[in-house]
Amino acid sequence: MIRFDRFPQGKHKAVTLSYDDGRDFDRRMVAIMNRHGVRGTFHLNSARLSSPGYVESAELADLFAGHEVSAHTVNHPFLSMSPPETIASETLNDRRELENLIGYPIRGMSYPFGSWNQEVVAILRATGMEYARTTQSSGLFDMPADFLVWKPTCHHREMLAYAQKLIDLQMRHTRMALLYVWGHSYEFDNHQNWQELEQFCRLIGSQTDIWFATNIEIVAYMQAVQRLRCSVSGQLVHNPSAIPVWFSVNGHQEVVQAGETKKLAHV
Ligand SMILES: [Zn+2]
Repeated sequence: MIRFDRFPQGKHKAVTLSYDDGRDFDRRMVAIMNRHGVRGTFHLNSARLSSPGYVESAELADLFAGHEVSAHTVNHPFLSMSPPETIASETLNDRRELENLIGYPIRGMSYPFGSWNQEVVAILRATGMEYARTTQSSGLFDMPADFLVWKPTCHHREMLAYAQKLIDLQMRHTRMALLYVWGHSYEFDNHQNWQELEQFCRLIGSQTDIWFATNIEIVAYMQAVQRLRCSVSGQLVHNPSAIPVWFSVNGHQEVVQAGETKKLAHV
């Protein structure tokens, strides 16, 4: 039996960080993450770029290299209390501005104030948004049923406990376990607890069985998993995507390269 239970390189565990608002404390945050190979996504409000206390437009590409720049609306409104025109323009115009600066399509966002409802989700879906993170912690390592209502595992105040929990996780029935941490870099400054971020990154960054990914890399990988096409016999798998996909067949690891059609052993 084919079982979709693996991230890239056959790993069962992944970690991603998700940080909002683009305050200048992101610089210190990125430096700590980079030292330990931890990766993540930075959700920016384009109208606030280059104003006092925020990151500069001109530094985005260098500062966030190896991470993901993502949307957070132009002006940080409560989307659940906004007319549809505002929901569409705030998200599309943020993407347009950030895309001009960063040079790749922006495919996701986080909800300002964690504010969303089903109408907001419908508009985001219609305008091509592929994921949106809420501020409601799930306490779980599960993939979301809908990436436009993506509940993180925890806020960073709990990240050390969850990192240990992920490390200790023994997967008797193997599956994909994702630790998704969210927050704001300025909170580390407000609480003077930058050492907790350092501790988290050192602990988790030293684990060789974890995939460190940006938010959109997780989404794109799961899309590639869903696009695998299998024969009825379970012997043939075709991967139409541009990235390789890992999975297991009766407990044996398999990988199907981008564009490949593969006859599986161990079926
Ligand atoms: Zn925000």
